[in-house]
Amino acid sequence: MITNNAKITSDGAILMGKLFCADGMVYDDKRKFFAISHMHSDHANVIKKCLYNGTVFMTPWTAKLLEAVYDDNYSDKTTKEVTGRKNIKILEYGQSKEIEHDGIKETITFYRSNHNLGASQIEIKTQDGFNIVYSGDVQREDKPPKNIETLVVDSTHGHPRYSKYNEEASDEKKLLDTITQVLNGETPRSVVVHGHEGKLQEVMALISNHSALDQFSFFASEKDIRIANVYREEEDFKKIRKKILPSEDYAVEEWISNEANDPCIEFTAACGKRTYEKRGKAFSVIMTDRCDQYTHETSDGNTLILITNAHASHEELLEYVKNAKANEVIVDCYRSKQGIHFVNMLKKNTIKAYGQPK
Ligand SMILES: [Zn+2]
Ligand SMILES: [Zn+2]
Repeated sequence: MITNNAKITSDGAILMGKLFCADGMVYDDKRKFFAISHMHSDHANVIKKCLYNGTVFMTPWTAKLLEAVYDDNYSDKTTKEVTGRKNIKILEYGQSKEIEHDGIKETITFYRSNHNLGASQIEIKTQDGFNIVYSGDVQREDKPPKNIETLVVDSTHGHPRYSKYNEEASDEKKLLDTITQVLNGETPRSVVVHGHEGKLQEVMALISNHSALDQFSFFASEKDIRIANVYREEEDFKKIRKKILPSEDYAVEEWISNEANDPCIEFTAACGKRTYEKRGKAFSVIMTDRCDQYTHETSDGNTLILITNAHASHEELLEYVKNAKANEVIVDCYRSKQGIHFVNMLKKNTIKAYGQPK
């Protein structure tokens, strides 16, 4: 029944075919070829170990973003010095690379995902001609590649409660209107925007495009500034403001407490509110990907909950799997608690599915 085309290990590595391991690390003499779907830490945080153990494939944007995330340099010279090998292999979307190792031939190809800049779906073609695909994090516009034998799918929002449809354009307007009001109010307040890496840079671009907010300084961590510098190289995000002040060493706290300053806009990947938000000195924008609610302002007038669409909703995820028409579906139960619900949902739709790791 169950093929050995793919498997998810107990620490979340996705084994594909005989040679490849995606979004994780495994010590296995035969499996020395790694692939990374996108920059988020639950997918990419073992990159250093992978680099020591073999070859790591990724898209050009993912490579640049991971350099920014880990403040590293993947130029040939540096990887040679650090690991003794030229271990990073860059593949554009749709560009295939055949690997031959121990007499086994397999081919890797990345397909676009709209989850974030550089994100990909990973396809491994075995030498028997079977296509194994790992979805990476699925976004509503993602289209699976064709002729899939085995699909490994991420299950964020696998539960039916994540089924609300949030309208991106009106949510963006709500964000801009709300913060414009807060920053220019009778008692102007600073704004702290919380969100995942990637989403944060998208909202930096959105606000940078809104000239009415030009006078308000931006703050972000050194890491988020480096990520912003990469995003700015992409046409869609080139307007991201160049001057972003580092938020380290209580810089924002000091800025806010000096009454001579205009209010500022801070961007942070941290979830918890800062003391100045708790004390009502700054307004909070919490960007979250949970589509079990709608964008709304909390009743105390201190927080805007902004729903983003980095992950597909429940129905969209189901649609993605149906479109994939795979012969078997392995649901990632490592990265999301929704996995088991999603397995049941797929079975109800007469799709052969099981969850891993067991
Ligand atoms: Zn992600
Ligand atoms: Zn993820």
